[in-house]
Amino acid sequence: MTSLNQKLFQRSQEFIPGGVNSPVRAFKSVGGTPVFFKQGKGAYVWDADNKSYIDYVGSWGPLILGHAHPEVIKAVQNKIKDGLTFGAPTEAELEIAELLCKLVPSIEQVRLVSSGTEATMTAIRLARGYTGRNRIIKFEGCYHGHDDALLVKAGSGALTLGCPSSAGVPAEVTNSTTVLNFNDLEELEQIFSKAGREVAAVIVEPVAGNMNFVTPNPKFLPALRELCTKYGSVLIFDEVMTGFRVGLGCAQGVYNIKPDLTTLGKVIGGGMPMAAFGGKREIMQCLAPVGSVYQAGTLSGNPIAVSAGLATLQMVQTPGFYEKLTSSTQQLTNGLTGIAKKYEIPFCAQSLGGMFGLYFRGDIPSSYAEVMECDVESFNRFFHAMLEEGIYFAPSSFEAGFVSSAHSDMVIRKTLQAAERIFSTWE
Ligand SMILES: *Cc1c(COP(=O)(O)O)cnc(C)c1O
Repeated sequence: MTSLNQKLFQRSQEFIPGGVNSPVRAFKSVGGTPVFFKQGKGAYVWDADNKSYIDYVGSWGPLILGHAHPEVIKAVQNKIKDGLTFGAPTEAELEIAELLCKLVPSIEQVRLVSSGTEATMTAIRLARGYTGRNRIIKFEGCYHGHDDALLVKAGSGALTLGCPSSAGVPAEVTNSTTVLNFNDLEELEQIFSKAGREVAAVIVEPVAGNMNFVTPNPKFLPALRELCTKYGSVLIFDEVMTGFRVGLGCAQGVYNIKPDLTTLGKVIGGGMPMAAFGGKREIMQCLAPVGSVYQAGTLSGNPIAVSAGLATLQMVQTPGFYEKLTSSTQQLTNGLTGIAKKYEIPFCAQSLGGMFGLYFRGDIPSSYAEVMECDVESFNRFFHAMLEEGIYFAPSSFEAGFVSSAHSDMVIRKTLQAAERIFSTWE
């Protein structure tokens, strides 16, 4: 019997490359047919065949309130009546800009864009314009959107030139990108002492969520801050994923480090295409029309997207919001770890705020290399077994997972019961 999901995927592959509009959606790493969603409510989504799932992807991060939160839907419906776009300033943009500056103290000025990729791409350009330098440092396993300069893998030997990790990216573009190891202080100090004065910017996911989930060692972010200050380089925290996901003050609030620039996306758009970058006034003043670094966008600060973002940011300010989110997420990760332990399965998990990592290995990884040691085959088996049970985890063992405020104790308990059924028959 062919399911509607399968039929839709077959047809999609005819008209859309790979049948998807973003590669990870294609289930390539776990195998099988991607699930076509048609509806979401709270912690649940429904597929084309009417099967329901508890969703731990949340559109890859934005849906911190769950699907179709009434306040967000209401805000969008109210706004939509007044027109979809103006290409001129609106008061709502000012409102969200003021709020972002208030909630994230390192942000003195902010500009709205339409995607995380646009935010990081412009932050890099801005850092280069501001410093008059070219070199960028990034870390292996961190993803910053698909800007050419950031689609880089480590060259042979970490201190050599980066090479493109995608066809179509000229080596000249990635030549000035250096790729280092996340959490490796020695390497970092070495490159700065050699070439610190050439470094325009260091861009980092303060908590890495695009190589599964890797937290920074206690000395890593402080060292980044210190070296960037010493050598006059711009420190960019890419908080597109962690922003308002790990806490109200973002990852920089959790670790108490002030970057020079921050990129935001996902949660701040509440499920609509909206992102932002901001930081020190002195740097932001280099942007057109006041400065000489060009950046623009026809739909930037789109009023409908802004209204969804504002409604979301209002809700997350509810007292106790992050405490509850943190405890729900821990209930999930502690529960899974406990069950795996009972059945002697090499598995562990950890979380921060509403973000978590699952690892099929003995202990928590702290680098890209250690994440690569996770047992992908076991993850894929677990993924498909949970999918069958109506639990939707990210279709790759190299992605973080997300819990929303709609994930009640009952929802988490159901998830753990399904995991117990799977792990109890694991061999
Ligand atoms: C998702 C993500 C991006 C890219 O955002 P898009 O809106 O998909 O372009 C950039 N950086 C990080 C850390 C992300 O998680």
